Amino acid sequence: MKTTHQILTAVALASAATCSLAAYPEKAITIVVPFAAGGPTDKVARDLGEVLRKGLNNQTVLIENVGGAGGTLGAAKVAKANPDGYTLLLHHIGMATAPALYRNLPYKVLDDFEYVGMVNDVPMTLIGRPSLPANNYAELVKWLEANKGKINLANAGLGAASHLCGLLFQQSLKIDMTTVPYKGTAPAMTDILGGQVDIMCDQTTNTSGQIAAGKVKAYAVTTMKPLSTPALASLPTLDSQGLKGFNVSIWHGLYAPKGTPKAVVDQLNAALRTALKDPEFIKRQEALGAVVVTDNRLNPVDHKKFVEAEIAKWGPAIKAAGQYAD
Ligand code: ASP
Repeated sequence: MKTTHQILTAVALASAATCSLAAYPEKAITIVVPFAAGGPTDKVARDLGEVLRKGLNNQTVLIENVGGAGGTLGAAKVAKANPDGYTLLLHHIGMATAPALYRNLPYKVLDDFEYVGMVNDVPMTLIGRPSLPANNYAELVKWLEANKGKINLANAGLGAASHLCGLLFQQSLKIDMTTVPYKGTAPAMTDILGGQVDIMCDQTTNTSGQIAAGKVKAYAVTTMKPLSTPALASLPTLDSQGLKGFNVSIWHGLYAPKGTPKAVVDQLNAALRTALKDPEFIKRQEALGAVVVTDNRLNPVDHKKFVEAEIAKWGPAIKAAGQYAD
């Protein structure tokens, strides 16, 4: 039988837990972006943070950029963070590709996170430095053939979307290129603009503005169908230009450290659903070529199932390419 003291303590603890959950969030929330500031993942996180806060007592959503090692440093930081709902992770397809690429990944993608819901799907584009003599894809292929052994391909490290897309591109053309890894594709874009690297495959969220302004050479989109976004509508697909079946589209999802209370995850999920219905957010994402998720991947359970399926899809292709990191 419990003593009066034990009963009173249990009641006090239960009510403290209810109070702190009811009050969540009481302070600013940090979303870790595992890539450099100003890049595609960062842009999605900053736009999302602005609308997400509306469902989170209007608390500030801070962005912390932890770039490096294809997004695995930032993900590792969140896997080890306090599971209190104040540290979250916005990550892309790299969440699903890292297990096949990193021999010593310091976290387990399916075990060390609470899945909050997916955010968007984003196509990619193949771009080149402004001084590249090739003005269209056919000319680019000729230039690549003529410059074998001297081509620099920028990416955001092993497992980044730019790495996967570039890897498939090299495999499809059977031309090896020297990959130049950055902490994100924002600094990679700076070097494309400056002519230090030749080409890059990157999300439309980072490239559409530069393409529209004519600041980079744009060769193709990586989807099977051309895009409707005005800035990108005239860009042909790689599939239609000879790389049959070339299809790379990436996605972003929101995560919390494992052990974050279910009530908090539910609240974050509700805030995410509200945020993804915001007309301004939808418009902005569309203008950047991204499509906001409206399907069942908004459910934490289906989000996790989707990532599991992506791990199964990409793992064998990556292992066949024989690229690993420790
Ligand atoms: N999304 C980019 C990539 O995977 C990295 C970034 O967001 O900066 O290459």
